[in-house]
Amino acid sequence: MKITGVKIKRVKKKLIKPFKIAAGVSYYSNQIIVKVETDEGIYGLGAAGPSPRVTGETIETCMEMIKYFGEQLEGQNPLDIEMCNFIMNKVGRNTSAKAAIDIALHDILGKKAGLPLYKLLGGFGNTVESDITISVDEPAVMVEDAKKLVAKGIKILKVKVGLGMENDIERIRKIREAVGDDIIIRLDANQGWTVKEAIEGINRLQEFGIESVEQPVMNWDYNGLKEIRNNITVPLMADESIHTATDAIRLIQMDAVDIINIKLMKSGGLYEAAKINSIAEAAGKKVMIGCMNESTISLAAAAAFAAAHRNVQFADLDSDTYYADNDVVGGYERAEGTMILSEKPGLGVEYDEI
Ligand SMILES: [Mg+2]
Repeated sequence: MKITGVKIKRVKKKLIKPFKIAAGVSYYSNQIIVKVETDEGIYGLGAAGPSPRVTGETIETCMEMIKYFGEQLEGQNPLDIEMCNFIMNKVGRNTSAKAAIDIALHDILGKKAGLPLYKLLGGFGNTVESDITISVDEPAVMVEDAKKLVAKGIKILKVKVGLGMENDIERIRKIREAVGDDIIIRLDANQGWTVKEAIEGINRLQEFGIESVEQPVMNWDYNGLKEIRNNITVPLMADESIHTATDAIRLIQMDAVDIINIKLMKSGGLYEAAKINSIAEAAGKKVMIGCMNESTISLAAAAAFAAAHRNVQFADLDSDTYYADNDVVGGYERAEGTMILSEKPGLGVEYDEI
């Protein structure tokens, strides 16, 4: 089988309401959908969700790089995923562009094998329990959002904080009062705190029953993460600090985190994600699989990865729940907080607009 070309489509999805985190506000989901075509008529779908802040890619640079990778991969066998990643990795970074192609290659692999991706990747299970994220806002707004989600059967809330510690404590106090003790609450500060704030604040927040705290300080501050971890009991998760397997090794060598948040857009796809998960598992660290503001196509790949691997014990795969409309069909179904993966070969997604 040979790759004959890569088609690219830019998609801008309006969100039902602005999504706010400590680092900024999003009104749209900017995605690039790719279709890797082959000489056997089998094609693979993938998607990029570039984030200038996290991956250093804009929509425009990402589209250029997908085109470039498409040219480099023309004539290659799409089933040779290690070779294709080797070719793409001759260029550094550009991880969401790489992820889009890598996901499409895995879709082709699944279609060729006649197996759903979660089976090919490991097959530990076919469901994923995901949280739904509450964006940071006035406490009263966040309480209303939390109540609506719990009324829909959501049992895990990921709450965005990082905009002033006293306000954050107020936010979590009120949300916990509103949802009761049976709902899991995990926090994500998106680099919004200092080391001192984080240590003091997390120790005050733990009375509200916090499952974990994600990325309290700046991405580069590994020593800060280590210091925080040494001074709190709530499990600490790294997100913006870890992109690649090499980052994972460094954080683990420093014993600076408890949980690693893998996102396909940061790792460059499923191939590197598997390495990160193996490193984490061997070091006794649990993994979360998270998402950017990204497409159902890449969420389906992330959900398959999460279901396939026993060590992926947390999932934050919810960006599609914010779209005003969605024209991607399949991949998974949602039943309250549970994602049930498609049994169709590959990703099991259909998208006719490319
Ligand atoms: Mg995060």
